[in-house]
Amino acid sequence: MSISVQGLTKIYGQQKAVDNITFDAGPGVLGFLGPNGAGKSTTMKMLTCFIPQTSGAATVCGFDISKQPLEVKRNIGYLPESNPLYTEMYVKESLAFVAGIHKLHAPEKRIAEVLEQTGLGPEQHKKINQLSKGYRQRVGLAQAILHNPQVLILDEPTSGLDPNQLIGIRQLITDLGKTKTIVLSTHIMQEVEAVCNHVIIINKGNIVANDTLQNLRKNNNNKTLETIFIGLTNK
Ligand code: ADP
Repeated sequence: MSISVQGLTKIYGQQKAVDNITFDAGPGVLGFLGPNGAGKSTTMKMLTCFIPQTSGAATVCGFDISKQPLEVKRNIGYLPESNPLYTEMYVKESLAFVAGIHKLHAPEKRIAEVLEQTGLGPEQHKKINQLSKGYRQRVGLAQAILHNPQVLILDEPTSGLDPNQLIGIRQLITDLGKTKTIVLSTHIMQEVEAVCNHVIIINKGNIVANDTLQNLRKNNNNKTLETIFIGLTNK
């Protein structure tokens, strides 16, 4: 499994944000769902080595998040919820900068590939602050996939996009999920149905569902995902 999580816990001061969660993920798109404040971003930050766990363990591509953070970061691409970008940089320049951080061997070739893959070709000579929100998300995604990691952690990558932009980004995530392990957090149930094979629902730091979309529906009298989500998390 590309991601293996065992008893992972995060306590901020008095608050238990993530409470002893255990799950595995392999290639495909895993929908990581839960109401605001459930612990999704905290889990993602621990998996990407941005914050340390309080207890428990996790590996990414076999590397331990506490003992081997550099190897974990080499194998993971992360698009944080806020999608922080250097907005004064040109699109291509920002990718060259990220390629430098990863010490890519043939950066020009890889940057051209990723510009093509993310549909950024026509915008590559613009400054990031001149781009629409949809294209900024594509730049965030391009930066996350540039070093061709096996695992992608995408925290609400489609929030605030218009319907046309949604289609483009979802298609890209679906294509990437054919070979990579993707953990995708979103509040849009339609999106989960469009791109995810497997779903984890987290509520108040605990996993309340972990199954394929198909099984989840079958075991809940074929209710909609939205109804299942509300039933499991409105407590
Ligand atoms: P989600 O991503 O599911 O909305 P978060 O992981 O951001 O949830 O937050 C989980 C809980 O932890 C929330 O109650 C939130 O207020 C709290 N929390 C998140 N970050 C911090 C922090 N840096 N310090 C204290 N509490 C935090």
